[in-house]
Parts: sequence; structure tokens; C-alpha cells
Amino acid sequence: MFESLSDKLSGIFDKLTRRGALSEADVNEALREIRRALLEADVALDVVRSFTDKVRDRAIGAGVIKSVTPGQMVVKIVNDVLIETLGQDAEPIDLVAAPPLAIMMVGLQGAGKTTTTAKIAKRLKERHGKRTLMASLDVKRPAAQEQLAVLGRQVEVDTLPIVPGQTPVQIAKRAMEAARLQGYDVVLLDTAGRTHIDEPLMAEMAEIKTFSKPHEILLVADALTGQDAVNLAQNFDERVGLTGIVLTRMDGDGRGGAALSMRYVTGKPIKLIGVGEKMDALDEFSPTRIANRILG
Ligand code: GDP
Repeated sequence: MFESLSDKLSGIFDKLTRRGALSEADVNEALREIRRALLEADVALDVVRSFTDKVRDRAIGAGVIKSVTPGQMVVKIVNDVLIETLGQDAEPIDLVAAPPLAIMMVGLQGAGKTTTTAKIAKRLKERHGKRTLMASLDVKRPAAQEQLAVLGRQVEVDTLPIVPGQTPVQIAKRAMEAARLQGYDVVLLDTAGRTHIDEPLMAEMAEIKTFSKPHEILLVADALTGQDAVNLAQNFDERVGLTGIVLTRMDGDGRGGAALSMRYVTGKPIKLIGVGEKMDALDEFSPTRIANRILG
């Protein structure tokens, strides 16, 4: 049976307090347990190190050793540091700009980019009353543009008519122009994915950015890919610049460690999480909920 980190920490300290005064070694034992739990939750190693250092400093500062309830104190400190690292509040998509406002979706193939694009379009329509136009800029995968059109019909959001033979930049320009002429509030640009990051992909993303001047650039990353997702976020942020991250497959078994690492490494907010294949399986990111999931 899986024992949660909070239970483990309380257990360790309960045992120790019965024995008498706590030592620094006792606190270190708890920190080892925290380190193990974070690694199990797929948090990157350097993030784990810096995290446990912060918890140690704060535990010492808070006088955990002398406390009568050290277990609870450490659990609270761990929880506080988790939430601080994840970002205190949920950060929604920023819709404050003159229309048509472009949102560029980037990421690797299979991460859930097209699905997430349609989910966001549905959300913008239902919750924010925005008229949205979606455009697929993926000219490499023959069925990609059609896939977005199918999802568009499903969520009842318009997609840019497909014109064969156009480059991604030409499609982006056509989408922005159509949005201006037809009074759309938001343009969602679903860019092409690849199986891995390469120079042509990054050059293409940079060019699309130049021409569409997106208000948001959201990386769609698979939460189950752990450290790969963190490297991906770092790479995309350095080359194209991200305004936020959408983590998909948070309905899976992962403990959410990728969320902590990505936020820590890039400093970019996780704005939304994908929690299933259905079109309304998109939630706001809640630091408290993820902290609880990591703590168990
Ligand atoms: P793309 O290549 O990045 O555009 O990926 P797709 O949007 O085609 O998604 C790939 C697969 O992942 C599809 O079967 C989606 O239904 C599925 N998917 C996307 N997001 C989620 C999610 O949050 N949870 C789950 N379980 N599946 C998802």
C-alpha cells in the first residue's frame, strides 16, 4: 500500500519525539524521505536538491528541532515550498489585447497539441464568449489540418478553410487577415509538431511568431514524459519564448513532478492541464492540488 509523504514524515517525527530531543540528523532523515518522494514523483534531480535545501533552511529557521510537533511543521513547510515553487495562484490565458489576438500552440507530435487547441477554443467560447478561429499550420502531416477541422465541427468553432500548398507562414498570415476582416476575437494557431526538437522546427516557430505576433505562446507538453518535458520547455523557451505551459495527460498515473520541474526551470506558469481525451477535459492549473498530489 502506498504511504503518502505526509504520513511518512509525521511517522518519522512521531517516533523520534518519543525518544526525546531531535537532532539535525533527524531532520536530515526526513529530508531524505522528501528527496525520495520527489524523485518518485519524477521531479528533476537539481530541482529536488534546491527544493530540499530550501526546506532545510526553513525548518532550521522555524525551530523544527525544538518543536513539539516537528512532523506537522515539516509537512507544512514542504507544502508551502511546493506551492511557492509551483506559483501561488492559477494564471489563466491572458485575453487582454486588441482583437484579433493570436495564441500560438507549440510542442512535439503526440503531446496533445491539436486536441488542446480545440479544448481551448471551446473554453474561450463558453466561458469568455470569444469568437475564435482555429488554423492548423501543420503542412507536414497530411491529415493534421483535417483533424483540426473535425474537432472544430465537434466544438462548433470555426477553422480556417484549407488551401493546399501553402507554407505555415502563409497560413498564419491568412488566418490573421481572415480574423481581422471577419471580426474574430482570438486566433488559435496550431503549429506543426515533430518527434523531437530540431533546428528546422525552431526556425519555423520563430518565423511564425514574427508574422503572427502572438499574445500567448503556449507549450503543450505531456506530463508523463517527465524530464524530457522539462528539457523541451527549456529549449522552446530559449528559442521561441513561452508565455505559458499546458500539461496534458494529467489524468494519467504521473504524480505531477514534471509540473514542479518545468515551473522551476523555466519560471513560466502552467496555465492549464489536460485531464482526458474529451473536449471539456481541460482544467485550470491549481498549485495546491498539485502540491497535494506530490505530497500524497
Ligand atoms: P498532437 O500531435 O500534439 O496534435 O496530439 P493530438 O492532439 O493528436 O493528441 C494525441 C492523443 O493524445 C489523442 O488521442 C488525444 O485524444 C490524446 N490526448 C490529448 N490530451 C490528452 C489528455 O490530457 N489526457 C489524455 N488521456 N489523452 C489526451
